[in-house]
Amino acid sequence: MTDTASPPPARRLPEHAPMQQFAVQEGELVIGGERLSVLAERVGQTPFYAYDRGALRQRVAELRQALPRQVKLHYAMKANPMPAVVGFMAGLVDGIDVASAGELKVALDAGADPAEVSFAGPGKTEAELRRAVASRVLINLESAREVQLLAGITQRLGLPARVAVRVNPDFELKGSGMKMGGGPKQFGVDVEQLPALMAEIRAAGLGFEGFHLFAGSQNLRAESICDAQQQSYALALRLAEIAPAPVQFLNLGGGFGIPYFPGEQRLDLAPIGENLAGLVERAARELPQASLVIELGRYLVGEAGVYVARVLDRKVSRGQVFLVTDGGLHHHLSASGNFGQVVRKNYPVTIGNRLGEEAREAASVVGPLCTPLDLLADRMQLPVAREGDLAVVFQSGAYGASASPQNFLGHPGCVEVLV
Ligand SMILES: *Cc1c(COP(=O)(O)O)cnc(C)c1O
Repeated sequence: MTDTASPPPARRLPEHAPMQQFAVQEGELVIGGERLSVLAERVGQTPFYAYDRGALRQRVAELRQALPRQVKLHYAMKANPMPAVVGFMAGLVDGIDVASAGELKVALDAGADPAEVSFAGPGKTEAELRRAVASRVLINLESAREVQLLAGITQRLGLPARVAVRVNPDFELKGSGMKMGGGPKQFGVDVEQLPALMAEIRAAGLGFEGFHLFAGSQNLRAESICDAQQQSYALALRLAEIAPAPVQFLNLGGGFGIPYFPGEQRLDLAPIGENLAGLVERAARELPQASLVIELGRYLVGEAGVYVARVLDRKVSRGQVFLVTDGGLHHHLSASGNFGQVVRKNYPVTIGNRLGEEAREAASVVGPLCTPLDLLADRMQLPVAREGDLAVVFQSGAYGASASPQNFLGHPGCVEVLV
C-alpha cells in the first residue's frame, strides 16, 4: 500500500435531472414571468398549481423542430384537463384526444377542430357515443358493442359515425411505466378479432378512417419508442388490407416520458424524429391518404407545471426534519407515490423561495392529512426552510389536480392557474 493511493470514490447517489425550465431571480423560481412569492400573492392562496405558457409553447416548438412536419401532434388532455390549458394547447397542437364526453365538451368549448378530435376509452356509454357522433369527432372503437351502438346512432341521427379502430397489438411498449397494449387488455380490440370487427363496421355503414395504436406511457427510452412505432406501423399496414376504407388517420400513440425520479434522463427526441421521418416516407407510398398522428399528454404539459404548498410547521422528530405544508396527496397523488408507482421515489422538490441559499439539510415534506402516505418528499436535501416558505414540486403539469382525491380528509381544495 502506498501513501499516494486515493480513497475509494464516494458512491454518488443518483440525482434528479436538472430542472431548468424556469428561471431563478433573487433566489426565487420564476413562473410565468413572476417571482414565486409574488405569484403566490397573485393567486391568493396556497396550495396551487401553476402552468407556464412559455414552457408549454417551448415544448411544442421543440417537438415541431425534432419531428417531421407531416406528423400531426395531438394533445391527450387527460394529462391536464384544466380548460384554460386545453384552450391554450388547442392553439398550439393539431388536435385534441379526449377520453370521456366530459373531456369532449372541454375540448370543443376550447375551440378544438372536431375533425382533429378523437375519442378513446373503454366502456363508452350510448349517450357519450351519441354526443361524439353529433360532434363529428373521430371515435376510436374499443369493442364490437360500440360498433352495434354506433350503427343505431348513425341511422337515427342520419350522420355516419367517424370511426377508427383502437387495436390491442400483439406486442408491448418495452420500458414503459404503464403498459396499455399487448397481452390481455381492456383497451382496444385484439388483433385476432379484427377481421370480424372490420366486417361489422362495413355492414353497419360506419365511416372508417383509420387505426389507433397506443402501447403505453412514460417511456424514457427513445429506442423502445421507435421500436413500438415501427411495429405499430407494420401492423397497421397489414390491417389496412382488410379495412373497409383507406386509412386517413394512423395514430401511432405516444408514450414519451419525462424524468421524475433520481437517475432518470430526459428523452432524446432526435432518434424518434429520424424514425418518424422514415415512416412518413413509407406512408406516402404505402398509405397515401394517411396522416400519421402521435398523441402526447405528460410530455407536452408535465414539465411546464409546478405544485406549490406553504410550509405551516417545521417539526423535528428524533432528529428528522419534517416540513408540514398545507398541500399533500389530496392535491398531488402522484408526487406522494400513490398513482401507479410500485416503489415510492421522490419527485424533484425544492424550497422555491430559497434557491440562492447555501445551507441545506435533509428534510421530509409532508401534508396535513392524517396518513403516513401524505408524503411529498422523503428525506431530500433541501434548502433549510422556515414557516411561511414555499415548497415546490416540479414535473407537476400532468396527472396532478385532476388525478388526485381532493375530498379525501376534507381539507380545502387547490387552485390552478395558467400563467
Ligand atoms: C393516457 C393516454 C395518453 C397520454 O399518455 P401520456 O403518458 O400522458 O402521454 C395518450 N393516449 C391514450 C390512448 C391514453 O390513454
